Amino acid sequence: MTTSARIGIRGRLFAAFGLVAMATVAAAIVAWISFTRLGDTLDDMAGRSVPAVTYAAELAEQGGGIIGTAQALAAAQNENERKRAWELLAIRLQGMNALLEATSKGDDNKDLLVDFRKDMVTLQSNLQHLNFVVRQRLERVARKEELSERLRWASADFLDEVEPMIDDTRFNINLALSRVGESSILTAHLENELARQRALFMINADGSLLAELIGRAENIPSLDALKGTELYFHEVESRINENFQTIEKVPGALSLRQSIKDILAFANSPQGLFQIRTQELADIESEKELLVKNQLLLQHLDALISERVSWESSRALDAAERSRTSIQQGRLWMTVAVFISVFVAIPVVWIYVGQGLVGRLRTLDESMRTIAEGDLNARVPVSGHDEIGEMANSLRTFRDTLSETQAELVQAAKLAALGQLTAGIAHEINQPLAAIRHYSRNTGLLVEKGRVDDARNNLDKITSLVEKANHIIEGLRALARKPKRDIRPTDMMSALNEALTLLEGRLRDQMVDVDMLIEDECRSVLAGQVRLEQVLINLINNAIDAMTNTPVRRMIISARRDKEWVELKLQDTGSGIAAEHIEQIFDPFFTTKDVGEGLGLGLSVSYNIIRDFGGNMRAESQDDKGATFWLRLKYAS
Ligand code: ADP
Repeated sequence: MTTSARIGIRGRLFAAFGLVAMATVAAAIVAWISFTRLGDTLDDMAGRSVPAVTYAAELAEQGGGIIGTAQALAAAQNENERKRAWELLAIRLQGMNALLEATSKGDDNKDLLVDFRKDMVTLQSNLQHLNFVVRQRLERVARKEELSERLRWASADFLDEVEPMIDDTRFNINLALSRVGESSILTAHLENELARQRALFMINADGSLLAELIGRAENIPSLDALKGTELYFHEVESRINENFQTIEKVPGALSLRQSIKDILAFANSPQGLFQIRTQELADIESEKELLVKNQLLLQHLDALISERVSWESSRALDAAERSRTSIQQGRLWMTVAVFISVFVAIPVVWIYVGQGLVGRLRTLDESMRTIAEGDLNARVPVSGHDEIGEMANSLRTFRDTLSETQAELVQAAKLAALGQLTAGIAHEINQPLAAIRHYSRNTGLLVEKGRVDDARNNLDKITSLVEKANHIIEGLRALARKPKRDIRPTDMMSALNEALTLLEGRLRDQMVDVDMLIEDECRSVLAGQVRLEQVLINLINNAIDAMTNTPVRRMIISARRDKEWVELKLQDTGSGIAAEHIEQIFDPFFTTKDVGEGLGLGLSVSYNIIRDFGGNMRAESQDDKGATFWLRLKYAS
């Protein structure tokens, strides 16, 4: 047995389906890996990227809120508004810090977080500073209002002081005017009074102007304008001082000077309105700066957030790209695995199973059928080194053995027939021999007596008896001759006559009538003369045996032509064949005859001979109505 034979059909199918199964398992593993990777990516996106983007959006919203609230804080007009804005800011800052903490959980981007935190700390301190500045500004505003109120009173006081003094000077002037011309002293006095009055007018106007300037300073929108106003204020102040020199000796001048001083105090002290307004403007400036800084900080935070969002987006995109690649790879490998399965399965099923196994089994089956039908020349192709090859080898051996066995059986059957015939022939030949002996003795006596004609008569009888014996011997010789294997057009009629001649003695002894209904066109068939005779002898012998105990003993032998076939029918009136035996009569060694009378080989050998001729043979029987045998032979034109 070769190596490939040892692998066998089972091994090959196992290998092929193993390969298919492996490809399927590989496809499943690839699918599993791809799905796991995809699942991980989706988990990562759902667990990190999506929340990060959400947090980023919330951070941006909180940032916007902080800008708005910081502006509201800067614009606060009173303490309540400031407090409310500051509280809201504190809440927003807290929310923003919480969001930052949430975002930073498990974050790989540490630098970004550090920047975030730094910005938040700066933002927080800026806002605190803003709050402080706003509070300070509001305090200044309150103080300013208080000072303004007081300035109004001081200004009223000043007017109360200056107006009677002007009235006095006016009285003095009128009085001096009434006395004008009386003396030069009076004229000088009048001029003096006029100068005082002028100075008082000026002081009155300048005092009001000072109060007006201080009052206006409260709302001056810029530092430059404030400085200009302050300079002007000092100019007016020095003018008032000059004018005071003129009214030095006027009663009430001291008190008036005091009220002017009171007004000046609103401007010149470190807590004066100019100072407060300067500080207030500085506060407003620093508020603006802080707001700008905050805005910048929040813009920076916004940029950081955007950076983070884009970082997360790029991570998500990377992950999606990786998933896509792994899905593509998975798809490719799965396709490869499926193709391998298909490319292995199709050749295995189509070529190996379909043609290699089923095809060879079918051929072997045909060979078996042909052999079973008796054609021992059937071709048995042996191919492959597997179980089917071994089966084909066994079948070939079987066919060869069967062929030899059949040849031996034919020989055995022939010998059996010969034995049977020998007894009959001995009996047949003994009779002519005894007659010849009798006639020859008698002829001698007739010759002695000179009865020549009678003697010739006897010699004729002897001659015919010798011819008869010769005929019998010729038949025997033909049967004993080694059968020719060649099949050729044969005269069926002559084979029948030979058989009947050989069995003439038995037919006569058993008193069997033989009717022959054979037309000439049925005579020529494809067969071997001797073997056809052997078959016919067999059939007629069996019919004689079957009619031993029947009252009517008759054989009808007829033939008819059916296109290229000739059908020979041998019908007897014997015991017939039992229904349970009809299927077996062609089996070798099947016999219903007593031991020594039949071997059970005749019909099986006959059957095979007829098959050899390319024909076939069958039997039919009805109870007690005899048996009929049909031989179907090819017509030889
Ligand atoms: P054998 O004659 O040695 O028994 P055969 O093969 O010639 O062997 O016949 C087998 C059997 O078939 C016979 O034993 C007999 O039972 C049956 N048989 C054959 N021919 C006839 C027939 N013409 N009538 C009845 N039975 C028959």
